[in-house]
Amino acid sequence: MARDPNHDILFEPIQIGPKTLKNRFYQVPHCIGAGSEKPGTQAANRAMKAEGGWGACCTEYCSIHPESDDTHRVSARLWDEGDVINLRHMNDSLHKHGALGGVEMWYGGGHAPNMESRAVPIGPGSSASEFEYLTFSHEADEDDIKWLISHYVEAAKRAVQAGFDIVYVYGAHSYLPLQFLSPFYNKRTDEYGGSLENRARFWLQCLEGVKNAIGDDAALATRFAIDTLYGPDGVEVGDDGLKFVEMVDNQGLLDLWDINIGDIAEWGEDAGPSRFYKAGHQRNWTDEATKIAKVPVVGVGRETSPDDMAARIREGRLDIIGAARPSISDPFLPNKINEGRVEDIRECIGCNVCISRWEIGGPPMICTQNATANEEYRRGWHPEIFSKTSSEDSVLVVGAGPAGMECARVLGERGYDVHIREAESEIGGRVRKIVKYPGLSEWGRLTTYRQLQLDKLKNVEVHTGVGKMTADDVINYGAEKVVIATGSHWATDGTNSITHDPTPGIDASLPYIATPEQVLMGGKEIGDKVVVLEMDGYFTGISIAEYLRDQGKEVTIVTGLGGIAPYTHFTLEAPNLHRMMHEKGIHAMTSHWVEKVEKGKITLFNLYRDGYKRHAGPKTGELPRDAGTHVEELSFDSLVVATGRIANNSLYRELRARKDEWGANDIGGIYQAGDCFAPRLLADAIFDGHRIAREFETSNPQYAQPWIRERQVWGMETYPKITDRETQG
Ligand code: SF4
Repeated sequence: MARDPNHDILFEPIQIGPKTLKNRFYQVPHCIGAGSEKPGTQAANRAMKAEGGWGACCTEYCSIHPESDDTHRVSARLWDEGDVINLRHMNDSLHKHGALGGVEMWYGGGHAPNMESRAVPIGPGSSASEFEYLTFSHEADEDDIKWLISHYVEAAKRAVQAGFDIVYVYGAHSYLPLQFLSPFYNKRTDEYGGSLENRARFWLQCLEGVKNAIGDDAALATRFAIDTLYGPDGVEVGDDGLKFVEMVDNQGLLDLWDINIGDIAEWGEDAGPSRFYKAGHQRNWTDEATKIAKVPVVGVGRETSPDDMAARIREGRLDIIGAARPSISDPFLPNKINEGRVEDIRECIGCNVCISRWEIGGPPMICTQNATANEEYRRGWHPEIFSKTSSEDSVLVVGAGPAGMECARVLGERGYDVHIREAESEIGGRVRKIVKYPGLSEWGRLTTYRQLQLDKLKNVEVHTGVGKMTADDVINYGAEKVVIATGSHWATDGTNSITHDPTPGIDASLPYIATPEQVLMGGKEIGDKVVVLEMDGYFTGISIAEYLRDQGKEVTIVTGLGGIAPYTHFTLEAPNLHRMMHEKGIHAMTSHWVEKVEKGKITLFNLYRDGYKRHAGPKTGELPRDAGTHVEELSFDSLVVATGRIANNSLYRELRARKDEWGANDIGGIYQAGDCFAPRLLADAIFDGHRIAREFETSNPQYAQPWIRERQVWGMETYPKITDRETQG
């Protein structure tokens, strides 16, 4: 199909200093867990986006010196020749597709924990970080400031050696340049503190030093949080924000503004989860910068609609469409717009599971929508290209939830004849319920994308409303291969991860006890006073509590965990979820679990009620500490139990027990995908379905094939060598 002429403007080149951006699609810096230590992953992930049409792709934040080390989180680094070699591979890979490479030079100041380097970070003051406890900076004197600026300059020279086209001085998310600029951090009384002119001095000197270092070899960009959202205590767009833009532009050093909002302690105000922020939520701030900026402005806001993107550029509200999450979810978003295939865009759902991996530190980024994210190098997966099978096997997929939909889609793309059969009237499985929770409707994109792709595949038949398949149904179906993707359900008996047993008195067949599914599907009448008992730790407990509170119920969440929905700290939803609880009056009781449940009453105990000193020696048959007996009681009209999910694996188990019948019925293999194998994140279920389909011809696709691991191999060269040190002492 031809491109919609309304979108032509998105494909117009634009000059960024000495470099030409071929179109208006720009992958802003974002983390993937590769840094400089996994050059294959780094290069392949970014290059896939370049192949998909992004005009520029940046690294994640890239440390310029060991004084700025974010371990346990993974940043890129430009510390030495080894980093230059590794990141040059990324740029070489981008350039093959005509994309520019950007590096976000980062010095964390007081937010860098330096757990690997053990160096001391330097900042405008000597204050404790509000983001990273037990982390302090050393207050810079004039020599330190020159030393800091020299770090930026030397790293910029290495960036040019590595082939970067765009070199950033990163001042968003409360990192060093913004720490100097913002009165929230900067309490100095010398020429670097006080007036805006003084507070801006460090940033301007960095820009000047870097510009002199890179000349016309690369464009100079800066990422600026134009409003830290602290009100007058920080940087406000209507005050220092716009004034700083004018100040920098008047120096004529900068080639590109990368504008966002927020800080680091609550950077979900920037990377807004869809639960709270819809696409374009930063427009009212970014547009202000574009109005006065003398160089192009790139901005973000999880934009996935090409009509909205084109309108923003046409109306002069933004010059370049920046994206992190939309580019993770669909690396081929620009090409799909270019080819007039906008319906094929795999839109980001704003769940922030990608971000959760950075926040946890260490593991590679994953994506709920795009199972191939970060698998480009280590598994060789391409999001749009699937190896065609030579097998003539037909495949039955039982269950059209997240894993089943994805498995059928990929098998279909690979050329298999697939029947996917869903007991319920629509596909989607668990997602059909999740979208009923307040704020989570965009998660339905997991289904709409797959529904459309399945509809396009002529070799895939989707059967809905067929009821639950029995083992006889499967065995007699006539398929040569079977994938069971029957999902999971919430335990009806209170089985949980604290006791690993059912909970006395919990039985969801009783009228006053309900699982989340029973509540959402309208199967139970819920009384006015509700206790939500949860041990999920993610979105379910808090979501069902809000759902019921919005109906006017009095709601208390009880959890054995130390906080409410702790995983949402990693997805950046936690601060506003806690504000929501406070504002809506949802009560909470943490670190408690259940002794027993009776009609109208739940008896709870504090998980730490037992003696804190262990007994001196063992006594068989007794706890090795003084057993506590204190309990507390809560009354309720209805108890909602989200204590644990149980795999729906009875069909597989029955089939497995009849394995000797498979051969006679020409069944070559039966596998399990997703929650029926083990209930996990939606991202994991979708990945599972995808992986099994990719590896379907292996001897047993139930078990994953090995992937490429990137690490130092003993006996190979290291950078730097120990002999590069000035002292061997
Ligand atoms: Fe979007 Fe979620 Fe994928 Fe992140 S993990 S890119 S938020 S769909």
